[in-house]
Amino acid sequence: MKIKTNVLIIGSGIAGLYAALNIDPKYEVYVVTKKNSTESNTNYAQGGIASVIDSSDSFQKHINDSVIAGAGLCRQNIVEIMVKEGPQRINDLINLGTNFSYKNGNLDLAKEGGHSEKRIVHAADLTGSEVERSLLEAVNRRRNIHLLENHIAIDLITEHNVLNLRNQVSDTRHCWGAYILDINNNIVITFISNVTILATGGLGQVYLHTTNPQIATGDGFAIAYRAGAKIGNMEFIQFHPTSFYSNEVGSIFNPSFLISEAVRGFGGKLRLKTGEEFMHKYDSRLELAPRDIVARAIDNELKKRGDDYVFLDVTFKNSDDIKEHFPHIYKRCLEKGIDITQDYIPVVPAAHYSCGGVLVDSNSHSCLNGLYACGEISMTGVHGANRLASNSLLEALVFSHRAANQINLNLNSIDSIPEIPEWDDSGTLSADEKVMISHSFREVKQCMWDYVGIVRSDLRLQRAEDRIKLLHKEVEELYKKTKVFEDILELRNLIICSLIIIESAKLRKESRGLHYTLDYPELLDPQETIIQNIIL
Ligand SMILES: Cc1cc2nc3c(=O)[nH]c(=O)nc-3n(C[C@H](O)[C@H](O)[C@H](O)COP(=O)(O)OP(=O)(O)OC[C@H]3O[C@@H](n4cnc5c(N)ncnc54)[C@H](O)[C@@H]3O)c2cc1C
Repeated sequence: MKIKTNVLIIGSGIAGLYAALNIDPKYEVYVVTKKNSTESNTNYAQGGIASVIDSSDSFQKHINDSVIAGAGLCRQNIVEIMVKEGPQRINDLINLGTNFSYKNGNLDLAKEGGHSEKRIVHAADLTGSEVERSLLEAVNRRRNIHLLENHIAIDLITEHNVLNLRNQVSDTRHCWGAYILDINNNIVITFISNVTILATGGLGQVYLHTTNPQIATGDGFAIAYRAGAKIGNMEFIQFHPTSFYSNEVGSIFNPSFLISEAVRGFGGKLRLKTGEEFMHKYDSRLELAPRDIVARAIDNELKKRGDDYVFLDVTFKNSDDIKEHFPHIYKRCLEKGIDITQDYIPVVPAAHYSCGGVLVDSNSHSCLNGLYACGEISMTGVHGANRLASNSLLEALVFSHRAANQINLNLNSIDSIPEIPEWDDSGTLSADEKVMISHSFREVKQCMWDYVGIVRSDLRLQRAEDRIKLLHKEVEELYKKTKVFEDILELRNLIICSLIIIESAKLRKESRGLHYTLDYPELLDPQETIIQNIIL
């Protein structure tokens, strides 16, 4: 089955939906998404969106804060674009119907770590789901946008899929759409499009512990990589220091819920399983040291002792105060059998955000003609080696808007598309051994957690590479003889993402921002890590 459209958007988080809404309504747009339309990292964002709103704030201050967080690797001109266009994008959201929180008639602005001013626009502590709700409602009002749930992208269509064009050199490649599996009907649709936007979000599920939902298997990174796009700075994975530790059976994909920084701000103490405090060994600011330092300290203690978690303790605080300050955390922990007014909370750092991604220009265009990447999957250059809190939703808004603007300008002048073959699965069989898939998921996630997490070394990276390459070989063999289904696609992508992260980490012979390695503690001259089709 073939569907022809002007614009194909893969992903229905903030980047995909906002891009769709900004495409000129005279063009037909398909948005495909692999689960239900709300399931996305966007839907779980709590804090908010950073933007210069208050008169005491300035663009320069927000630019400086972002660049300082980025540890020498931000692209200054791109940060400037994001910061300066931010307030207009917040206004757009308000006009679309997003209900942000207000105080005395003005947007209620919060302050977060690393920000020198109050500039976090939010909808209570559920900003993401409110943004997602309002964008989806707006999309549903638009006749030119067709949203297809339970449709998972397999691969992009490029010269590689067209027999007589296969040997084109990669810098002149085009993207002409994607093969998409309609999960409910079990058929692969050939989507042929003038322009494709990858907006598939993050890859937290590469790691055993993550705050990201199940959809975050890094599909877009792997899909773009296989198609020959350049991928940058993938070693910079942001870990949140404290997420609730759970070892429930069957919970391998369940995101860990965040135990927010505010709990440490409130006086919460980190303790080993023995009850001993340990932060004094790492930083004079103790529990209030920056996120990456606290995450590294916890990681070090876990690795030294072979433990799975440490404790966060607020039991010495007044129990009514605890419940008043943290009603959501109190309730979520109670559901897991932990009364935080009396029990220590088991916590572990968790993969939270990917700063690197598909390398794009200031309009979110990749190095493949006709392929854009927006949101967490992209590497625009705004985050550098570490992301400033609440800059990711802003980045997604600003650069998906710019992508849509450029598409509106250029769509008429795009080259014609050659004859594209349909998906060919002749000779493949339905998978009868699903146990191998679930086992391999666990192996990848555990291996990445143990060896390619918060603290790295040459030895750890090599071990991870050896093991994951073995899994890569096994899974590719299975993939070639099996009819495609969701799990095998995700596992394959998770493995490619892991190899990309390992390769990028091996290339960086220094410790910078979120990449910390025992073998190279010093800083070198700042350089981006760019890779392209090195595995396949
Ligand atoms: C718990 C949590 C809290 C956060 N809090 C904040 C915050 O306060 N402020 C902030 O700025 N950022 C925050 N972030 C980060 C931010 O939410 C994300 O970076 C952002 O939402 C990413 O948006 P996106 O549109 O790029 O991707 P997503 O919102 O993740 O959307 C990706 C979409 O792609 C779909 N998809 C994926 N693969 C495929 C495929 N193969 N085929 C079809 N569809 C596919 C998914 O189903 C989903 O619809 C938080 C993240 C988490 C997890």
